[in-house]
Amino acid sequence: MNEAVNRDLAKVMFTNEQIQEAVKRIAAEITRDFSTYSNSGKKLMLVGILKGSVIFMADLMREIDLPLTVDFMKASSYGSGTKSSGMVNVTLDLKYENLSDYNVVVIEDIIDSGNTLAFLLGYIKDKGANSVKLCALLDKPSRRTVNIDIDYCGMSIPDEFVVGYGLDYDERYRNLPYIGVLKPEVYE
Ligand code: IMP
Ligand code: MG
Repeated sequence: MNEAVNRDLAKVMFTNEQIQEAVKRIAAEITRDFSTYSNSGKKLMLVGILKGSVIFMADLMREIDLPLTVDFMKASSYGSGTKSSGMVNVTLDLKYENLSDYNVVVIEDIIDSGNTLAFLLGYIKDKGANSVKLCALLDKPSRRTVNIDIDYCGMSIPDEFVVGYGLDYDERYRNLPYIGVLKPEVYE
């Protein structure tokens, strides 16, 4: 581990081996669930939410044993401060306006308050998707402010700020191959 990074982390929460186990388990669930759609004429589309989901998405898509397409969206919360307001701005949209030929699985790094995803799931449903499911590597249920169902979930975690494997603090630490807990003094 890089020395400066080492200094900022309180502990490793999940090793890369543990993450890969979760990725394989989720990929097997998605492969099982969507193989029945293969004759229905509907296509499977993974929609990654930038930027936090990129590493997870890259690993997960290679473990799904089905034909699929990928696209990406980016969203930002309106307003100032650290609390998301529930108002979400789409800053990068999907290629297609009409998703009626697709079964969509939204891929997210972590569900915290749930505000961003509650909005995005509705937004994708409004584009007419045949089905919309949610897949998140991490779930922080203690911080939830809106009701949201995670169809495919890696690990549930306590209310600690984590970085690595795509997750950032101030755009840093995304390239760590594991998930670690940031020392509170780094962000306080
Ligand atoms: P929500 O709308 O509050 O659910 O926000 C979810 C987003 O907040 C995630 O996509 C992350 O970008 C960010 N986030 C929430 N918790 C953490 C964390 O512990 N580490 C890094 N980013 C986080
Ligand atoms: Mg982030």
